[in-house]
Amino acid sequence: MPPNTASSNPQPDSERKDKSMSDKASDHQVMIDGNGVQFSCAATHAAACRLGCALECEDYHRSECDRSVKDVGNCGALTYFDAADPFDTYIGATEPNNWQSGPIDVEWDSYYDSWLWRFPGEDRQLPGSARYRDAV
Ligand SMILES: [Zn+2]
Ligand SMILES: [Zn+2]
Repeated sequence: MPPNTASSNPQPDSERKDKSMSDKASDHQVMIDGNGVQFSCAATHAAACRLGCALECEDYHRSECDRSVKDVGNCGALTYFDAADPFDTYIGATEPNNWQSGPIDVEWDSYYDSWLWRFPGEDRQLPGSARYRDAV
C-alpha cells in the first residue's frame, strides 16, 4: 500500500468512533425519472455498506482469512443494486410502477448473499429475485 495520498478522496480520513452498524435511511437514495432508476450512497467513511475484507478477499472470505474488515472506499451495496433490474434486490411491498424517488433502507442479507433495499417503513418481503423464482 502506498502512503495515504488522499488526493482522490473527498472524505476526511479521520477515524470516526461513532459509527454504528445500522444504516441510516438517508445514506441511500433512489432516483426515479424518465430514464429509469438510479441508486446513490452518501454514507460516511467506515459505514457498514463501505466495509469489505481487510485482506481483500473477493466475494467470500477465504478460509485462512481472519475476517477483519476495513473501509474499501466505496459503497458495497450499490454494486448489488442493478439499475436495469432494481426489483431483483427489492424487499419492499410497493409496485415498481409506484416507486418514488427518495431515501431507502439497505441491509445485507447473508441468506441471499446480497444487499437488499426497500423504502423506509415498508414491510419486508422476499427479494424480487426470489419472488420471481417462487412464482414459477
Ligand atoms: Zn477476508
Ligand atoms: Zn452505501
